[in-house]
Amino acid sequence: MNPSPVNDLSRLCLHTITTKPWPIEVAAEKYAQAGIKGITVWRQALEGRDPYKVGEMLRSYGLHVVSLCRGGFFPASSPAERRRAICDNLQAIDEAVALGAPLVVLVCGAEPTQSLGKSRMQIKIGIETVLAQVESHGIKLAIEPLHPMYADTRSAINTLAKANDMVETIGSNSVGIAVDVYHLWWDPELEEQIHRCGEMGSLFAFHISDWKYPLEDILNDRGLMGEGCINIKQIRGWVEQAGFHGYHEVEIFSNRYWAEDQDVFLKKILHAYLNHS
Ligand code: ZN
Repeated sequence: MNPSPVNDLSRLCLHTITTKPWPIEVAAEKYAQAGIKGITVWRQALEGRDPYKVGEMLRSYGLHVVSLCRGGFFPASSPAERRRAICDNLQAIDEAVALGAPLVVLVCGAEPTQSLGKSRMQIKIGIETVLAQVESHGIKLAIEPLHPMYADTRSAINTLAKANDMVETIGSNSVGIAVDVYHLWWDPELEEQIHRCGEMGSLFAFHISDWKYPLEDILNDRGLMGEGCINIKQIRGWVEQAGFHGYHEVEIFSNRYWAEDQDVFLKKILHAYLNHS
């Protein structure tokens, strides 16, 4: 049975990438005016800015910083590149702390010239290497399993089962999972793995959008909720049953929507959220 519909915006969060054409200062003002309470900040949006000041600015609009996107990309064929990835993740953790974000979302990475198993091992080592820094600041990391179409270069963690396994093996309360319906909707084990994730206390974030058909671009053609084939309400029901009561984060990469007037797009997001999530 699907859960009751969302009837207000109190748990709506937008990813800054969703309205990419807006600088973060504009996004903050527009989100707040629309009654949105949560914001997930993409690192590009911080470029040339002091993350501490950005955090203050966001809070001055009454926005709650939900997470920083994104760390990860740990696997690489050379040790020097893997060290660079660790440095970049430590920097992302520092940025999250300055910004006041309690969570860094990880797109874990994959190296196409080596096996997925090897990439997974490098992801585990990468996370364990930055873990002390994460724990000392009292923030968290969320592994985001990605759709298998991205297993070549973006993530060797492609199912919630694999992400749960990784979280279980690492065994830290500071490492959990971001469930993104776009990546996971197709998985026949989704309901039971969401349940398992909840049992472990590891369900840290919930991302929504829709899967259009046909996809015109595997990266930048995500749909608004209700535009595609994902039963978002059903998956939201599962995450709620698993004990998740955090924000519903709208994360849409779309060449089509980025080309539109972003004020019009924002209205469509609110409509889609209230009617199809
Ligand atoms: Zn996501």
